[in-house]
Amino acid sequence: MKAHYLFPILAILISCNSPLSPIPRESEPTKSTQSEYALVIHGGAGTILKKNMTAELEQAYTAKMNEALDLGEGILNQGGTSQAAVVAVIQLLENSPLFNAGKGAVFTNQGTNEMDASIMDGKTLNAGAVGGVTNIKNPITAALAVMEHSDHVFMVGKGAEEFAKLQSCQTVDPSYFRTDRRWNSLQRIKEKEATEAKKNLTELSESKHGTVGAVALDKAGNITAGTSTGGMTNKRYNRVGDSPIIGAGTYADNETCGVSCTGHGEYFIRYAVAYDVSAAMRHGGKDLISASQDVIHGRMKHAGGTGGLIALDKKGNISMPFNTAGMYRGYVTDNERVVKIYGD
Ligand code: ASP
Repeated sequence: MKAHYLFPILAILISCNSPLSPIPRESEPTKSTQSEYALVIHGGAGTILKKNMTAELEQAYTAKMNEALDLGEGILNQGGTSQAAVVAVIQLLENSPLFNAGKGAVFTNQGTNEMDASIMDGKTLNAGAVGGVTNIKNPITAALAVMEHSDHVFMVGKGAEEFAKLQSCQTVDPSYFRTDRRWNSLQRIKEKEATEAKKNLTELSESKHGTVGAVALDKAGNITAGTSTGGMTNKRYNRVGDSPIIGAGTYADNETCGVSCTGHGEYFIRYAVAYDVSAAMRHGGKDLISASQDVIHGRMKHAGGTGGLIALDKKGNISMPFNTAGMYRGYVTDNERVVKIYGD
């Protein structure tokens, strides 16, 4: 079987409801790009310092990011869609306990894992998102199912779980998501909360980073962006951050850019960060780099918002700004590959 026949099949396999999934879109003949294809990923931003990292952990993060880039590049290079690449890459990162998404998601105050995910298609501006799901193995597949098989954009809690199950998304016992590392983070923050006699303390530094995201540009010129997270350690009251909110944590528009964010979600919601990058390009005439840096290093940072984003435009230009010590990040195009963790 020729390679290009494999990708429609792959796209079908990674969606929950296989038989109804659309085949990849036709390429647009007039398109001329700087890069034939591009993929940028993140694994969260935060207080990520070399002095706190072991050689083994650094190697594990680097290897997993390279594996994700290999997987996504394989799809894009052989003519697969940006949607197929983004979903496959995020699923791979969700399955790794290294990241705060899927297996390895952080714990709520009640000791449960509540996950959020979203995806957006830059060609149609269709989008799908789920919030507060507890038993979907790969929340990004539930977000994809919402986008492809419902009239809605955002489903939460039990309803989202019910819908995902109907769409044949794989469910697991909630204990699947537990890792000792994230459990210990919850215990540490609870101890801190008790000593500081402060209510509603959510972890902003050590254990918050780990949200995953991917943005891809395929050979047909279509951009897809996706984000998946367990949110913030010790969150309560069914708090939901920016990651599943279209325009805050995720945005894609073929005419401007695709964006996936990570950081202190409340600020990304208030500053509509992902959409702001696109709007600054569309309405303000800015390029990708200055549009994305302005919000991360400018208004949001001055307001106290910490985090970063990954973005790419229709020419395959890449931007990965962050205002924290580090951000797990990397990208690949038809002529370049970069994987980084710390500040430059
Ligand atoms: N933005 C996510 C949230 O606020 C967390 C993160 O990216 O680390 O839920």
